[in-house]
Amino acid sequence: GQEILMTTLQDPELWKKTNRWDDTVVDIWFKSKMVSGGEVGIANTHEEPITAMLTHFLDSYKEMPIYIYQFQNKFRNELRAKSGIMRVREFIMKDLYSFNKSEEEFKEFYEKCAEAYIKIFKRVGIGHKTYRTLAAGGSFTTGLTDEFQTISSVGEDTIYIDENKGLAINKEVYNDENLEKYGFNKSKLREEKAIEVGNIFPLGTKYADALGLTYQDEKGERQKVFMGSYGIGLGRLMGTVVEVLSDDKGIVWPESIAPFAVHLLVLQSGDDKNILKEANKVYESLSKAGIEVLFDDRQGLSAGEKFADADLLGIPMRAVISTRSIQDGGIEIKKRTEEKGEIISLDELLKILKSST
Ligand code: ATP
Ligand code: MG
Repeated sequence: GQEILMTTLQDPELWKKTNRWDDTVVDIWFKSKMVSGGEVGIANTHEEPITAMLTHFLDSYKEMPIYIYQFQNKFRNELRAKSGIMRVREFIMKDLYSFNKSEEEFKEFYEKCAEAYIKIFKRVGIGHKTYRTLAAGGSFTTGLTDEFQTISSVGEDTIYIDENKGLAINKEVYNDENLEKYGFNKSKLREEKAIEVGNIFPLGTKYADALGLTYQDEKGERQKVFMGSYGIGLGRLMGTVVEVLSDDKGIVWPESIAPFAVHLLVLQSGDDKNILKEANKVYESLSKAGIEVLFDDRQGLSAGEKFADADLLGIPMRAVISTRSIQDGGIEIKKRTEEKGEIISLDELLKILKSST
């Protein structure tokens, strides 16, 4: 796809064409009045503006398919904002929009996207708890959509998982007809609470038709455009990773999205300046090697306090420099997920961290 960035302020006229300006249809709008008269919508999603924009750029079948995405702030007038970053009124969404020549071409891309989403959730460490889930389409479509739901007791959704299929169905569309149509075995389904971390939408020709987006085929005839949209809320995903992987001591970041690769702690006994010097040396070497280091060089804190903070922040690896580690010949490293550490040299630490980045 091509990355772009669309504006937050949106033209109501476009939304009226798809019947989504109405507050009873989309109940999370933030709208604002303009001093010059009239209103603007504050982005909660971007199907309408991007479809309208493409009417100025898309002409021939030769330019298709088109895939466009952005990381952009969405605003939603949620009745209840809660659970920290899980449900907020302003959040960054990765949203992608697809424009295909035919339903078949669209479906192929849609399945690729679903696979890519599963891969993303695996890479951030929640793959073992995340299921592609059949769900309703909200204000986006009257058809069904695919959500990506991560099992968690704090989840707001209820899903029924078919472990054999590796798929689930959301309670909101759960009925005998759908179970049969989509091949779910009712007796084998397991009910779970889950967090919606992503959602992909087959949109058919609804938006293109309403906003007048067509393309010219080989014969010069105007044809319908088949669309899809694909969203992941980054903050909610982050919150879900924390929720799923944390232990009683704090966060456990997977290496793939950890804000730092290593948490370097210096434990000074008394006013031994050598230890701080040694730690600074290690910090410089790691930084020069392009490794992201969080350096806890605070003074006057006990080892216990620093260890507790390191566990709470959850950087995948802790590296301690202390009188003892230096006596034993180096740096004491310990993974956040393990109990026991070991002493290694700076060269060895560099090797380990470079191979994991
Ligand atoms: P929900 O049902 O939880 O209100 P939604 O179905 O309205 O979410 P979508 O329109 O499908 O949300 O948006 C795509 C993704 O954006 C969601 O799967 C979720 O990851 C994220 N998201 C949606 N609303 C919020 C919010 N209020 N705060 C944080 N992330 C959100
Ligand atoms: Mg959704």
